[in-house]
Amino acid sequence: MEFMQNIQDKDPEVSAIIDNEAQRIEEGVELIPSENFVSKAVLQAIGSVFTNKYSEGYPRKRYYGGQEFVDDVEELAIERAKKLFGAEHVNLQPYSGSPANQAVFFALLNLKDSFMGLDLSCGGHLTHGSPVNFSGKHYSCTPYFVDKKTELIDLDEIKRQATLAKPKMIISSLTAYPRKLDFKGFQEVCDAVDAYHFADISHIAGLIAGGAHESPIKLADVVTTTTHKTLRGPRSAMIMCKEEDKFHDLYHKDTKKNLAKLIDSAVFPGLQGGPHDHITAAKAVAFKEALQPDFKDYAKQIVKNAKVIADTLMDKGIKLVTDGTDNHLILIDMRPKGLTSKGKELQNAMDLAGITLNKNSVPFDEASPFNPSGLRLGTPAVTTRGMKEGEMKFIGESIAKVIDNYEDKTKLKAINEEIKELVKKFPIYPGMGILQ
Ligand SMILES: *Cc1c(COP(=O)(O)O)cnc(C)c1O
Repeated sequence: MEFMQNIQDKDPEVSAIIDNEAQRIEEGVELIPSENFVSKAVLQAIGSVFTNKYSEGYPRKRYYGGQEFVDDVEELAIERAKKLFGAEHVNLQPYSGSPANQAVFFALLNLKDSFMGLDLSCGGHLTHGSPVNFSGKHYSCTPYFVDKKTELIDLDEIKRQATLAKPKMIISSLTAYPRKLDFKGFQEVCDAVDAYHFADISHIAGLIAGGAHESPIKLADVVTTTTHKTLRGPRSAMIMCKEEDKFHDLYHKDTKKNLAKLIDSAVFPGLQGGPHDHITAAKAVAFKEALQPDFKDYAKQIVKNAKVIADTLMDKGIKLVTDGTDNHLILIDMRPKGLTSKGKELQNAMDLAGITLNKNSVPFDEASPFNPSGLRLGTPAVTTRGMKEGEMKFIGESIAKVIDNYEDKTKLKAINEEIKELVKKFPIYPGMGILQ
């Protein structure tokens, strides 16, 4: 295995563990909707000499010497990100999605300021106001929920809440919500109450870049995204924003800075030190890949594939939150099958069958987040492997079989054998000799 030869010789212990993980992903079906498989080129950039460099500051304005090539790679990555999303300003330095969001709070709000975000139990992210997170602890969050009946986001209700709560910022986003977001509708609510519109597209950035979903970039003041989910880049994040701070006179009178400067100085020196330059190089590679025409096919196929799994599951009498999906993810509600709070057992049963997904709360779940009543799954990673509608039907049927037999280890083993057969035809890293 040429790519890994040196580590095999120098550190067989770690090398063996990496091989185990490589084997796990090759032999299983990866359905965690926030995961993906990066290309070999992205892996190589992550493993490049840029990991050695220190480069506090921004391109051509650094605090250390020896920056000419770091500047080149960060500028190239920014240029490609702007092209990919049509952004006015891009900050590529956040270490991951949560620190990126922290920087946005830091830039736009003062401590204890009021904002609104989708509640965790209804598909929001921790950083959108959960009481255990900085966002809920240090800022005043008015959560919004999905409608109890339709399980859909209800913009009229958000507007009613916003009129009372007068938030300075409203977050449009999803982590476990299987439908499109109406960014225009969110913008109208923000305009009505003088709130910044902060769109966090971490989960759907690849769908937006590939043209399968509408982009909030022309509407929202600030857009954050992770780069490692549907966008299929290295584990990291970025912030995109408008140059101009439209609420300067209202909320930021004490500063002459524009929005882009507020964001940049919140990231560095506000929250972070040196950027991870090897990850910046890998982002540049991933953005180039996402700019190719075949990435559009990829994004469309992710959505098509999710629909096939959703339809297959519903045909088998399994209840899905919102009764379907129009993005990359599906949320199964196990309560109608009498499996309230069995998410963990089902996740473990899926593991035994070679199907990787995650337990998840469903809207208004009476069970605890550690033993929730739902399962979340998605199609970005299996679509990267080249799987299409036929394979999705098989996977959907396999999931249904696991649910019906989740306590029967013999049946789960048999399903695992079928899954191994299926994935053999779709190697993730062909030619890298991971499984010789
Ligand atoms: C994944 C995610 C994040 C956080 O990303 P990390 O890199 O895990 O910190 C933030 N927001 C949303 C909507 C996400 O889905």
